[in-house]
Amino acid sequence: MSYPIPNTLNLPANAQAGGLATSIEDVRRLREMADDLGLPFRAIGAGSNIVPEYEVAEFVAVMKNRGVKTNVKQGVPHVDVAAGENWHDLVTYCASKGLHGLENLALIPGTVGAAPIQNIGAYGVEISDFIESVTVCDEHGLKQILSQSDCGFSYRESTFKTQPELVVVSVQLALSREFNPRLDYPDVLAEFDRSVGDANALVTAITSIRQRKLPDPAIVPNVGSFFKNPVVTVSIASRLREKFKNLVAYEVQGGIKLSAAQLIDHAGWKDRPTDKVGCWQQQPLVLVNLGGATTEDVIAYATAIQQEVLALYGVQLELEPSLLS
Ligand SMILES: Cc1cc2nc3c(=O)[nH]c(=O)nc-3n(C[C@H](O)[C@H](O)[C@H](O)COP(=O)(O)OP(=O)(O)OC[C@H]3O[C@@H](n4cnc5c(N)ncnc54)[C@H](O)[C@@H]3O)c2cc1C
Repeated sequence: MSYPIPNTLNLPANAQAGGLATSIEDVRRLREMADDLGLPFRAIGAGSNIVPEYEVAEFVAVMKNRGVKTNVKQGVPHVDVAAGENWHDLVTYCASKGLHGLENLALIPGTVGAAPIQNIGAYGVEISDFIESVTVCDEHGLKQILSQSDCGFSYRESTFKTQPELVVVSVQLALSREFNPRLDYPDVLAEFDRSVGDANALVTAITSIRQRKLPDPAIVPNVGSFFKNPVVTVSIASRLREKFKNLVAYEVQGGIKLSAAQLIDHAGWKDRPTDKVGCWQQQPLVLVNLGGATTEDVIAYATAIQQEVLALYGVQLELEPSLLS
């Protein structure tokens, strides 16, 4: 028995077993099957942030439950969205209904249920800014509602990453009736005309920027950023300033955040593809499958980048996608 694992890197990969979950009852049923087979259980969405090995010794449940409910609590509009809904469709739906906040997160691939796992973020906004609660099905099949503060959100992190037994079945977001566009990033400011633009226009602007910069996984297989932006000490950042005229660095909680893309670019990786794996020219943080790459090819390439960036700059790059083995 084997079950093909959908993944946008287009890697050949199979779980030992798997199935589709269109409801919480399906999640419970599939988990029982996994238990009977003695396999660890894992939920996935669209496979846009995973790097599965050729054979994965797990039971994989692909979340396909659907449904979007809107309501108002104490004057604040809320949406309650099933895990299997498409994230970008939710962003466009909310913008069109006058439910604001998510616009900068347009065109991030994947499902709503996966969005809290790595606390998706783009252009100065993170999903954790809007999460009221996350409804999960635990390892005993029980439904639990976790509040925002239970989820341990930080940059590309959440408590779910260390608790894969929790399956997100739906996400509850608190949005706003007022449109207060977040235009901190120069690209966004340049693309969006604040004097005339509404929320739909901001979604269109973000979509255009992303389409120019990032490869469409349906055409050039990838999982978006392969590495997180590293956070380093003030002294490492000062040392790096001597090597880089224009070091991208900004203060965050716990240190100085650098641009992983800049380090990779500076090390020359944009011009060093193999015949199967390379860095995307417009955004070297994105590794692309140039055709026929296996998981080993991708991991070997990523490891070579990590080793060289560590040797040259003393900075350890951490992988962003989840490895499935
Ligand atoms: C071109 C491109 C651009 C991207 N840009 C961004 C970006 O700007 N910002 C950003 O943050 N990310 C970005 N990503 C990464 C990716 O889109 C997000 O991480 C997305 O949330 C993954 O959704 P998915 O449904 O594909 O999850 P999957 O890849 O299927 O799963 C990812 C992880 O979440 C777990 N998981 C999935 N669903 C559930 C569930 N229901 N319950 C419990 N665990 C679950 C999986 O086990 C796995 O560990 C990008 C990816 C691509 C390909």
